[in-house]
Amino acid sequence: MPGLMQDWPLTLDRFLEHAQRWHGAREVVTRSIEGPIVRSDYATIHRRARQLSQALLEAGIGYEDRVATLGFNTARHLEAWYGIMGIGAVCHTLNPRLPAAQLEYIVNHAADRLLLADPCFAPLVAQLRPRCPSVERVVYLTDAAHLPAGADGPDYEDWIAGRSGECRWGDLPEETAAGLCYTSGTTGDPKGVLYSHRSNYLHTLTAMLPDALNLSSSDSVLAIVPMFHANAWGLAFAVPAVGAKFVLPGARLDGASIFELMETEGVTLSAGVPTVWQGLLQYLDKEKLRPTTLKRIVSGGAACPEALLRAYQEKFGIEVRHAWGMTEMSPLGTVNVPRDLTMPPVAQGRVPFGIDMALADDEGRSVPHDGRTFGHLKVRGCAVARRYFRREQESLLDADGYFDTGDVATIDPGGMMQITDRAKDVIKSGGEWISSIEIENAAVAHPKAALAAVIGVPHVKWGERPLLIVQLKPGESATAQDFLDFLAGRIARWWIPDAVQFVEAIPLGATGKIDKKQLRAALGGG
Ligand code: AMP
Repeated sequence: MPGLMQDWPLTLDRFLEHAQRWHGAREVVTRSIEGPIVRSDYATIHRRARQLSQALLEAGIGYEDRVATLGFNTARHLEAWYGIMGIGAVCHTLNPRLPAAQLEYIVNHAADRLLLADPCFAPLVAQLRPRCPSVERVVYLTDAAHLPAGADGPDYEDWIAGRSGECRWGDLPEETAAGLCYTSGTTGDPKGVLYSHRSNYLHTLTAMLPDALNLSSSDSVLAIVPMFHANAWGLAFAVPAVGAKFVLPGARLDGASIFELMETEGVTLSAGVPTVWQGLLQYLDKEKLRPTTLKRIVSGGAACPEALLRAYQEKFGIEVRHAWGMTEMSPLGTVNVPRDLTMPPVAQGRVPFGIDMALADDEGRSVPHDGRTFGHLKVRGCAVARRYFRREQESLLDADGYFDTGDVATIDPGGMMQITDRAKDVIKSGGEWISSIEIENAAVAHPKAALAAVIGVPHVKWGERPLLIVQLKPGESATAQDFLDFLAGRIARWWIPDAVQFVEAIPLGATGKIDKKQLRAALGGG
């Protein structure tokens, strides 16, 4: 017997509708691609998103059509998300840091019909256009004055101008696809994760929880995590949902630019990858500055060195929430909420409601939650992928309905999960597993280290042994022995690397993570 409650499909237009109706004057502030700070609000974003919807409909874009974006975090990009999703089309976020050949594959695989691009990406668009025949039109996310020379499409302002915004909006079945994001897959072709209105809606409710991102209408949220990576951690939905002030940093993610925005916009909460927090910390140290309004930061997307977590907490009294997740999980998986600011949240945290996880050994048998035994980390939940886009024959789930994350982890009896490694990065030495992440964290705490990476290199007796690769801070010098001495006592004796290699720069991939594939190729890790 069905319940007798109202019919209220869980669709994403509702977040912006709510924001414009109940928090319409709340500001949305952007450091624009053109340069100046631009101020908008939810009422304006809502009106313009609907104008964009109308323009899309007039261009023949409709239900299920893929519309790609190639843009930094800006108000126009936010309008694009809602304008595309509001009519049942699919917002396909392209990561501009990917090599052009991969983008070409992704656009063709998704069969994107229209592309909305920041003007700074005009050269990349020019490269892609001839090779991506499905793209009928490019619209540049700018105004007439900043349209790139020789642009092969209109500017966004001109394109949406003169429209009332009156069009059919929302009113979709909640299972309708809303967003598409390809994982930068280190093996094989990139794979498309296709979010639905319902999955993102439920993910938003989880993200807002006190033990997740803990968002409130009194917050001013700086979203450094790019809208083109992993669904922007759900912030494009959760921030309007609570009516918080939204601060969007555009293309400038260096320490000085981030700090300036934080101070001028009274930012209380910000989210980004560890390299962003590292850059900001270096800037603050150098200039002897401290944030005055920032209360919490969320660090996720890659393991965060303990020294970095400590610095924010102990120096500035800022709460650091360490989060783990992945594109396939929309992306929130776990969050570590520190109980007090003297304890850095090194582990990746607990699952909020809506997500379940388990550990299995190589044979698929479950592994005890004792905080010591490593296992393959598997997850299930209302915002976890079951298949990749246009790979309908391949289920991602095991017999129990879990998705294998490809990460190796431990879970303690209290439910605290700690990532040991990516399964392919874990170092198998003499039948035991060594966590490259733990050695990296210990090594990067060395005062002269800027970045550290550990890879397994083949070894006749042990199978594999760890090699430590260090990028020193500018102007510093050190010997291999300095680092080996530093590690002694900080990690198990048999985990101490066999060698240390200094490099000019440790390569980072398109999502800001250390590119171990490139390191292995360069340094003989096989
Ligand atoms: P992506 O889908 O690009 O966001 O990548 C997801 C992967 O990033 C995860 O499977 C982990 O390997 C890694 N990752 C994300 N967050 C963390 C974290 N807090 N600590 C360690 N690894 C992380």
